[in-house]
Amino acid sequence: MAIAAALIYWIIVAIWLSVLGTVLWFYAANPRIFGTTRLLLGVVAIDTTRNVVENVYFGLYFDSRYGLFGPDLAGVLGEPLLLIMPKVLNVISGLLVLSILLLRWLPEAIGERRSAEEHSAYLSRKAAVDGMTGLFNRSHFLIQAETEFERTQRYHHPLSVLMLDIDHFKSINDRYGHDVGDRVIVEIANILRYMAREADLAARMGGEEFVVMLPETGIADAANLGERLRAAIAATPIQATGGLLTLTVSIGVGGSDGNATVGEMLKQADLALYRAKSEGRNRLCLCGDSPVMPAYTGVSGR
Ligand code: GH3
Ligand code: MG
Ligand code: MG
Repeated sequence: MAIAAALIYWIIVAIWLSVLGTVLWFYAANPRIFGTTRLLLGVVAIDTTRNVVENVYFGLYFDSRYGLFGPDLAGVLGEPLLLIMPKVLNVISGLLVLSILLLRWLPEAIGERRSAEEHSAYLSRKAAVDGMTGLFNRSHFLIQAETEFERTQRYHHPLSVLMLDIDHFKSINDRYGHDVGDRVIVEIANILRYMAREADLAARMGGEEFVVMLPETGIADAANLGERLRAAIAATPIQATGGLLTLTVSIGVGGSDGNATVGEMLKQADLALYRAKSEGRNRLCLCGDSPVMPAYTGVSGR
């Protein structure tokens, strides 16, 4: 029994030494460990060292009393002044651990969490946005459009889309170069952003093609907004090397009567856009083939 009692301290010491060894090994094997993990390893190392020292002390003290070591050692270690040392060490390391946790680890953990959230928000924004124009990109538009579609279906609200394509854009590239072409795309995107309402979803679908989803908007109102867009673009010359460029866009309108899906609305708008092109460009058309949309006559092209 006495032997078991004598050995117990050394078993505890062995356990804590293996904890300390693991921590140190982990630290050495991962030199790029930083931030809150590094601080936590520090805290574990301090507390483990304290545990080892304390258990070694009491191991030596009691084991010399049980006869495992010379009784003189128990006499020395049993001095009240020395006996109190492990406890003083306990208090010092407790305060050290507490101050590291409260003053360093906690603010750093909060900061790390905040910057991780900011970084993730930045990445999702970047993944959602077209780098050139700052409008939403195609894939984000399609995701958002589905969400909007489900919402409007639930409440039986109207929903429509405008599809815009710059007229004769290829010839701008050919005549003035791709830089000017890019500028034109950005300027048109700025006009779209400026004229769209907060709730509208404006996106660059690719190349020189844009789409705007208009929640709570029926086809007639969408056509009105589209017509204002068309007119604004036609009336806004763009400064390019060698002079001012006047551009036009063709616009197709599609809408949902509650049954048409996002894909169907886009298809309608695409067909309408195709018609606007074939009827001479710089105009807005509805999809006349759609049973829910009579051919729009209130707005015509130039
Ligand atoms: P339409 O009036 O029928 O629309 O004629 P278009 O010339 O505008 O149509 P088309 O679709 O044939 O040409 C689009 C061109 O846009 C072709 C492609 O080289 C160019 N383009 C696509 N993306 C970009 C871009 O990011 N920057 C520039 N500068 N050009 C682009
Ligand atoms: Mg075009
Ligand atoms: Mg095109």
